[in-house]
Amino acid sequence: MEEYELSLMAKGKGKQRKRIRKRAWDAEHDVDTASREPRRVRGRETGVGAPVEESFDCAACFTEGPANGLVVSPYGVLAFVEVDGIERLCRVQEALTDGKTSFLAPGDRVVIEERDGENIVIAVRVRHTKLSRPAIERQREQVFAANIDQLVVVAAKTRPRFKPGVVDRYLIAAEFGGVSTVLCLNKSDLPGAEPESIRNYEDLGLPVIRSSCQTGEGIDAFRAALEGKTSVLAGQSGVGKSSLLNAIEPDLELDTGGVSEITGKGRHTTSASRLYHLKGGIQIIDTPGIRQLGLWGVSPGELDVYFPEIAALTAHCRFRDCSHGKEPDCAVRQAYEAGQIAPLRFTSYMHIRESLGENQVF
Ligand code: GDP
Ligand code: ZN
Repeated sequence: MEEYELSLMAKGKGKQRKRIRKRAWDAEHDVDTASREPRRVRGRETGVGAPVEESFDCAACFTEGPANGLVVSPYGVLAFVEVDGIERLCRVQEALTDGKTSFLAPGDRVVIEERDGENIVIAVRVRHTKLSRPAIERQREQVFAANIDQLVVVAAKTRPRFKPGVVDRYLIAAEFGGVSTVLCLNKSDLPGAEPESIRNYEDLGLPVIRSSCQTGEGIDAFRAALEGKTSVLAGQSGVGKSSLLNAIEPDLELDTGGVSEITGKGRHTTSASRLYHLKGGIQIIDTPGIRQLGLWGVSPGELDVYFPEIAALTAHCRFRDCSHGKEPDCAVRQAYEAGQIAPLRFTSYMHIRESLGENQVF
């Protein structure tokens, strides 16, 4: 595999994405293809402003070959890395940093070498998936979880109110990074009807787990969905992410009801992302960052790709670059007006499109 083609993955069909991911995986485990030669960085259009000539998360820094370390938590120009089951604090080679921070993310597979009694991260391997958002300065991609299998979007049936727009953004970020998604609708014990949009997601083929930390409903299904995988749990504060993790592993003793970060037993709580091992081969990357999810790498014109029900119609719009706003003969708007596109999805599409244009995060 010549280069990790995420944009291709984002646009590709499921099978194509799987193939690309498999190739990255194969390459990563193939000793013969090991290469530490830096690659040329390509500029690419992003949804958040001007073309980026050189990304902080630069393709040039990724190499193929075997790894002997798993990044647990990056820490400035240092990183906690698991080597042979032991967590070590390592220094990250300067070329893999901007002088202040490394671009490593929890889940990254790296090569550690001991030099003069110091453990140094000398290479980072090609990522097969990632979750990213624009860095504070916007013109950079910030990857906050690498090589994850799935994004579990947690929402509550009510309290806090279900926000389809928030869910849609998570789905886009996951799709962009080649990550599968599962929706967990927690607090099923609360009275009242389910949010209307859950049916839309089921119609789109998104697996939905209904759970309750009060009654225990769906907890087994939730655990089963995580087993043997590396997952990121995302969702608004108060939906029950910590409660769900406590339900599957009571020993974790996570703070609930306000503090939503995984505190780790006796560990100093920081806002850093971190990978945790749970029983049953469950790996969770806790990413405080994802709670403020802006979208990286998606331009307004590309947004259709992430809404399959809209993408299916755009070819029938009169204008090829139709924004499905005020243009005449817009097939998408006609379908929406005829009740063929779920109103909440259409509204969400419009809001996200507008926010991409205005370079905003939510
Ligand atoms: P987080 O911010 O997403 O980690 O949410 P927490 O796990 O801290 O939960 C927020 C609040 O919701 C706490 O008061 C929990 O006790 C409550 N909660 C969590 N899960 C459920 C549930 O399934 N049903 C009900 N009724 N309350 C829940
Ligand atoms: Zn249109």
